[in-house]
Amino acid sequence: MSTQHVKYLLIGGGLASSSAAQAIRERDPKGSLMIVGQEINRPYHRPPLSKDYLRRESNRDALGTLEPNWFTEHDVILRTGTRAARLDAGRNTVTFDNAEEIVFDRLLIATGAAPAPLTIPGAQLPNVYYVRTIEDIDRLHHAIDKAKNEGQTHARGRGRAAVIGGGFLGVELAASLTMMGLGVDFIVGSDYPWHRFAGESTGKFLTLYLQNHGVTVHTGQKPLRLEGDGRVQRVVLSESQSIPCDFVVPAVGITIPRELLRATPIAAEKAILVDDHCRTNLPDIYAAGDCAAVFDPLFGKHRILDHWDNAQVTGKIAGANMAGEDTAYQNANYFFSDVFTLSISAWGEARQVDRRVIRGTPNVDAPDFIEIGIASDGRIAQVIAIGHTGEDDQLRELVARRLKVDGNTERLKDPSVPIKDILI
Ligand SMILES: Cc1cc2nc3c(=O)[nH]c(=O)nc-3n(C[C@H](O)[C@H](O)[C@H](O)COP(=O)(O)OP(=O)(O)OC[C@H]3O[C@@H](n4cnc5c(N)ncnc54)[C@H](O)[C@@H]3O)c2cc1C
Repeated sequence: MSTQHVKYLLIGGGLASSSAAQAIRERDPKGSLMIVGQEINRPYHRPPLSKDYLRRESNRDALGTLEPNWFTEHDVILRTGTRAARLDAGRNTVTFDNAEEIVFDRLLIATGAAPAPLTIPGAQLPNVYYVRTIEDIDRLHHAIDKAKNEGQTHARGRGRAAVIGGGFLGVELAASLTMMGLGVDFIVGSDYPWHRFAGESTGKFLTLYLQNHGVTVHTGQKPLRLEGDGRVQRVVLSESQSIPCDFVVPAVGITIPRELLRATPIAAEKAILVDDHCRTNLPDIYAAGDCAAVFDPLFGKHRILDHWDNAQVTGKIAGANMAGEDTAYQNANYFFSDVFTLSISAWGEARQVDRRVIRGTPNVDAPDFIEIGIASDGRIAQVIAIGHTGEDDQLRELVARRLKVDGNTERLKDPSVPIKDILI
C-alpha cells in the first residue's frame, strides 16, 4: 500500500470539485491538489444529459466543466476511475479502492448524488434506465434506437417510453424523448408535475403544455409494477390499466452517498451538514454540491440544493475557504430547466411558500408568465419564470431581498409594471 501526502484532496469528479479546484488555484497556484472521481470521465456538466446531449444535438467533448488540459496546466492531479472507499477523519487519510492511501491537509467531499431507485416489482428488469452519467445516456441511446427500429407503435411511429416521476428531471426527459420521435407516457404521482416545487396554476399549465407537444401525461398515478417477459413490456397502473412500453426511465429523486461518512463523526442528516462557509463539523473537512446541505442565511436553515448553480457556488466557496479565505454563502439559489422550447428559471425556496400569485397569463401557445411564492410573513420566498426573459437580475433580487409584498400584490401581478419599479 502506497501513501502520498497532498495539501488539498477533493473527492468526487463533478462540478463542485472542479469549481473548488479552480477557486483553490486562483489563490494557491502551487499547493499539491488531487481530485479523485470514480467515473472514467473528467468532470462534466450533467444538465445536457436530459437535454441536448440526450437528443444528440451536442457531443461529449462539449460537456467538460474545464478544458481537458486545464488540470495538467494547473498542476492538478486528476484521478478518474478511482473511488475513495474510506475516510479516517482522525488520521486525515482517505483510502482508495486500489488500496492507495492519501494523507490530506484539507479535504472536500463533493460526491454528488445518485438516482433514487424505483422500488416496485419489476424495477430490476434490464430495460429500466436511470439517468445520471454519460454512460447512462449512452445505454439509453441504444435502447432508443432499438425501440425506434423494432419497438411498439404509437400515433407518430415506433418506439414507446414510460417516464416515471413528475419532478424536473422527469419533465425534461418526457420532453426530450418526445422530441426524439418516441411515444412517451409520463407518469406523475401527484395532481400535476413539479408538485413539490410549483403551485397548481403552473403545474396545470405544464401538464397542458406537455400534452400539446405530444406527451401522454398520467397524473395522480403510482405504478403498481413493471411487467414483461424478461424485459419490461408494460407499466401496470392499476389492475384495469397498463401502459405498453419498450423501456422505462425512472426519475423519482436522488439519494446521497454516505459510504465515506461511515465510522466518522461528520454531522449529516439526508446530506452532509455544512455551515455557510461549507465547513463540516470537523476541522479541515468541507463539503459542497449535491451531497451537502448548506446553511443558507437567507432562509435561516440548512438546504439541499441539488442544482447546477449550487454545485458551482458552494464548490467555489469551499475551495476559497480551503485556500485560506473567509468566504460565506450569500446566494439566492438558482435553478434552470428547458422543456421543449420553453426556458424556465427559478430562485428561492418552495417549502416556505404560503400563497402564490401569477404575473401574466399561463398560455400554452405563447408561454410568458411568472409565479411568485409568498411566505406567511408576507415576504417573497420563491420566483419561477416560465418563458420569461430579460428580467432575471430583478427577479433574483425579489428573492435575494426577501421583498415584503405588503400592498403590492396587484402591481406584482401586473406585467405592465416593470419588476424594477416594484424593487424601488
Ligand atoms: C440528467 C440531469 C439533468 C440535470 N439538469 C439540471 C438543470 O437543468 N438545471 C440544474 O440546475 N441542475 C440540473 N441537474 C443537477 C446538476 O447537474 C447537479 O446538481 C450537479 O451535477 C451536482 O454537482 P456535484 O459536483 O455536486 O455532483 P456530481 O455532478 O454528481 O459529481 C459527483 C461525482 O463524484 C463521484 N463520486 C461519488 N462518490 C465517490 C467516491 N466515493 N469516490 C470518488 N468519486 C465519487 C460521482 O460518481 C460523480 O461523478 C441535472 C442533473 C442531472 C443528473
